[in-house]
Amino acid sequence: MQWIVTDGIELEVGDDGFFFSSEPNIDGERIDLSPIGRSITVVIPDEPVRAIKAREAVLSLDMSAQEPVAAALEVAGWFRSHRFCSRCGDRARRHLQELAMLCDHCGHRNYPRLSPCVIVIVTKDDQVLLANHKRGKTPVYSVLAGFIEVGESAETAVIREVKEEAGIWVDDVSYVGSQSWPFPGQFMLAYHAKWKEGELKPDRSELADLQWFDKSALPIIPPPGTISRLMIERWLDGKLS
Ligand SMILES: [Zn+2]
Repeated sequence: MQWIVTDGIELEVGDDGFFFSSEPNIDGERIDLSPIGRSITVVIPDEPVRAIKAREAVLSLDMSAQEPVAAALEVAGWFRSHRFCSRCGDRARRHLQELAMLCDHCGHRNYPRLSPCVIVIVTKDDQVLLANHKRGKTPVYSVLAGFIEVGESAETAVIREVKEEAGIWVDDVSYVGSQSWPFPGQFMLAYHAKWKEGELKPDRSELADLQWFDKSALPIIPPPGTISRLMIERWLDGKLS
């Protein structure tokens, strides 16, 4: 068994599933999520096992091994914020067969939801566009990202987001991959886009800095385990078309 502690909620991740071990808000009982049917094996480096923060737990794993931990964290946060019916306001309870919160008063079922985001690596000839985000409060430079708005396709969101944050137009938008990012509820859809026209005009409300970088002079980039890092590494390896 291994433990992940996040915001006071303890998640025990083992071979048979993931569990909440001390969540007083859910009827004071230990919640067994194994009926969901996920078999989970998580190996966290740095044995012996220790309590670590959720983000650290996710980043300590290869992207291919992150999914069960992301699922556990997502469900923990979802239970905590869906204790009342969103239709009638009555108290909801956990559905016994499904991963859902059920309202006995009106019958409404609430399922976990994700918020889709686009994350985009923009290239221009042999350069890449990277930004230092104000909210990060670190020297790390990353690719651009934002939520998909109601009614948008992911490709439309890529073009809009880059225009809003960087002031430039892009095209040749192509899919790279995806990552569930439970901090909270984000589902990252990764794209590569190529500069089309315009000069950089950074959105100063979000970005501390924004620049085109050469491969030989990259700034500090995001840590392994993030799709941003994966995209930058693929670009460095010449694997982005
Ligand atoms: Zn209801």
